[in-house]
Amino acid sequence: MAKTALIAAVVVIVVIIAGVAAYYAVHKSKGEKCIRVGTSPDFPPFEYVAKNGSIVGFDMDLIKLALHKAGYKCVKIVSMDFDSLIPALQQGKIDVIAAGMTITPEREKVVAFTIPYWEVDQAVIVSKTSNFRPAKLEDLAGKTVGVETGTTASDYLKKYVKEHKVDIKIKEYSSYVLAVQDLVNGRIDAVMLDVPVAKMFTKKYPVIIAFVVKTGEKYGFAVRKNDTELLNKLNTALKEIMNSPEWNKLVEKYFGS
Ligand code: GLN
Repeated sequence: MAKTALIAAVVVIVVIIAGVAAYYAVHKSKGEKCIRVGTSPDFPPFEYVAKNGSIVGFDMDLIKLALHKAGYKCVKIVSMDFDSLIPALQQGKIDVIAAGMTITPEREKVVAFTIPYWEVDQAVIVSKTSNFRPAKLEDLAGKTVGVETGTTASDYLKKYVKEHKVDIKIKEYSSYVLAVQDLVNGRIDAVMLDVPVAKMFTKKYPVIIAFVVKTGEKYGFAVRKNDTELLNKLNTALKEIMNSPEWNKLVEKYFGS
């Protein structure tokens, strides 16, 4: 009798210990899960490769800050072409996209966006050393314009060409850096890209902004559609950051004169 009671007591204790251990294992691993942030670091000042080789920028600081506020301690940056970001998110290779990505109805069909954190228009840039000075989209007729694959600039130009039946040759690049290099080398006539990035390129390369097309695009971070917990936490953190002095500090750091 005493022996049975002893065995029963031991079994109960073992079960309790196993239960507690399992609970902690699950919660600990949850807390330590690394969030993989996908980006395409060819888009200064939002994301670019610093001299020491690390990926930095406004988006990188903002998403890290937001994720830390949301309780995610481990954040890993994963670099790839812009066009690969949405498929990578869908395939579970990354958990968040932070890439100056415009919130569009087409993208919203496949991913979930956070609240917007930035607004931009599109710029057309040309080489300083050429004498090509377009003032509007029609002036690009007969010319070759570079864009990055999968971007809103690419979609906008394609749609414009189709609707207005103008002969603009669109050349797609895997990265805006490559497009701007071709522009500088005289292989193409113009590049269309987001205004703040165009401005940064005018500081680094002999290019100038010829004109701006008002598109009023808004950037958001993207997560998988079923990742509602992550999305809600990110939105709460973003609202908090945007209403705090941290926001002004971040803006000053990357956009300050
Ligand atoms: N904002 C543009 C888009 O979403 C370009 C983004 C980028 O090239 N990183 O398509």
